[in-house]
Amino acid sequence: MTQSAQGSLTGILGEGSERFQGRDVRETNITAGKVLADTVKSTLGPRGMDKMLVGEAGKVVVTNDGASILDRMDIEHPAARALVQVAEGQQNRIGDGTTSAVLLAGELLAEAADLLEDGLYPTTIETGYRLAVEHALTAIDSHTVPVDPTDTELLLSIASTAVTGKWTDEEAQALLELVVDAAQAVERNGTVERRRITRTTVPGGSPTDSKLVDGLAIDMDASSTTLAPLDIDLPRRIEDARVALVDDQLTVEKADAITHVSVENPQQLDEISDYESDVYEGQASGIADAGADVVFCQKSIDDEVLARLAEKDIIAVERTRQDEMHKLARATGAEMVMRVDELTPNHVGRAGEIERRTIAGTDLVVVGDCSTAEQRSLVFRGGTEHVIAETKRLVENCLDDVTLAVEEAAVVPGGGAIEVAAASSLRETADGIAGREQLAVSAFADALEVIPRTLATSAGLDPIDTLVELRNRHHRDEWRSGLDVVTGEMGDMVDRGVVEPASVKRHAIPSATDAATLLLGIDDMLPASSAEETAHGHDDGHDHDHGHGGLEGSGEGYPWTIGH
Ligand code: ADP
Ligand code: MG
Repeated sequence: MTQSAQGSLTGILGEGSERFQGRDVRETNITAGKVLADTVKSTLGPRGMDKMLVGEAGKVVVTNDGASILDRMDIEHPAARALVQVAEGQQNRIGDGTTSAVLLAGELLAEAADLLEDGLYPTTIETGYRLAVEHALTAIDSHTVPVDPTDTELLLSIASTAVTGKWTDEEAQALLELVVDAAQAVERNGTVERRRITRTTVPGGSPTDSKLVDGLAIDMDASSTTLAPLDIDLPRRIEDARVALVDDQLTVEKADAITHVSVENPQQLDEISDYESDVYEGQASGIADAGADVVFCQKSIDDEVLARLAEKDIIAVERTRQDEMHKLARATGAEMVMRVDELTPNHVGRAGEIERRTIAGTDLVVVGDCSTAEQRSLVFRGGTEHVIAETKRLVENCLDDVTLAVEEAAVVPGGGAIEVAAASSLRETADGIAGREQLAVSAFADALEVIPRTLATSAGLDPIDTLVELRNRHHRDEWRSGLDVVTGEMGDMVDRGVVEPASVKRHAIPSATDAATLLLGIDDMLPASSAEETAHGHDDGHDHDHGHGGLEGSGEGYPWTIGH
């Protein structure tokens, strides 16, 4: 979106929205919802156009992700906010399908506007829409393809559908494989155990240099003192390693050692120094006596202790993140102790292999071949923080989709196929509905087809011709037929690898409908300050001046209260 486009959008949805005052609230809500949906429309699908947004402090963000656009826009109009919430809910609960959910909500509002004009009551539309949702969900369930977690090709398709158009081909190739490898490695009995995947960042390089490490990779950069402060050659690889986890810092408690002693002669200084040595030695041998080869400490470790541990061939890692400590505990069966003097051989866990690796100058300790639960680590690379953050976000999106698909063991064909399938099934049902709700059910079917229409447009095809052809194919029972936007061809979406978890749709459709019907149901909006007064007006049987259905503002605008 250009800056001026955003400007006019802000005019409608943001500060300038008072200009709707005095107009019918329902009409205003519908317009605001449609405008918002239009904003993200051109981003749908892999050929979706990039939008340029001017964010805070004049920072320009270029993205083709509907979710990040909505996230960055400053939207105040309550109706538009309702749609933003649809997007947020979809993003938080599912992690995909955000743009589609908003588009559908906008389209349901547009269809409703026509139905209102034809004389349907909002309640009739709502009833029809609700019937349609129920039916559409059933249609989705009967148009799924089973997912076998060992089917690497299918999982790659799921991941790629989630992010096509958002990565360059080269990036996609490398990262999609990482995602699928990681997901398959931690999958157990149909559950993708995401907590066994650790994320670590090694700055520099490009996203395609990101790696999947077999094991739990712990970044040692947080360790201010390097492994071998005294140039002692620590082992790079330990087999059948024992792992100790300590919470507290490994240091001499200065409070006990120094502040309580007043030094009167040099001999006492020696005594203090002896005392300190004893404590350090005690800590190092405590760890050695417990049988540990590696110790991870959540806080800092004094150089003296590090040196003594190194002499004993023990690798020490300080300032390990808390989540990593938990993962280490789970992976190795180690039990974290608060203080090193509590450490016994029973607290020590095991790993088949521990290796020190250096990736682009960053030292990592990789704890692998774990007895209790296998671990994988995604090591993210990238030239700038922004690139790394974006890569991480998209990898998580892919992982979300693969996880959903594996866990519900079902995907639906994308590229508009599932929407056309649901729409045709809805139209058949609609014919059997006696009341005026029938029209709302048909309208709902039309609204669902906003997805194939929009995908066609973004592929440079005629949306109507495409839709007609798709409906035809579905009529011939080719229910997996959709539009592959990358090639611009229609075909079997499962064969072409355009597939999405069924729950992306299962969540988007009802939540888009909820938002649309909520906005349809509102026909009055009052500034909070006069709400009470107006309520009295009703009680007294007075006719109040503002009439029914106006967006009333005293010029101060929000907060509005929503009436009915
Ligand atoms: P976003 O992730 O940008 O918020 P959605 O997930 O809501 O967008 O929608 C993406 C749409 O793009 C889905 O309908 C999906 O089926 C479709 N899609 C993805 N890859 C392709 C492809 N190669 N060909 C056609 N459609 C695709
Ligand atoms: Mg998506």
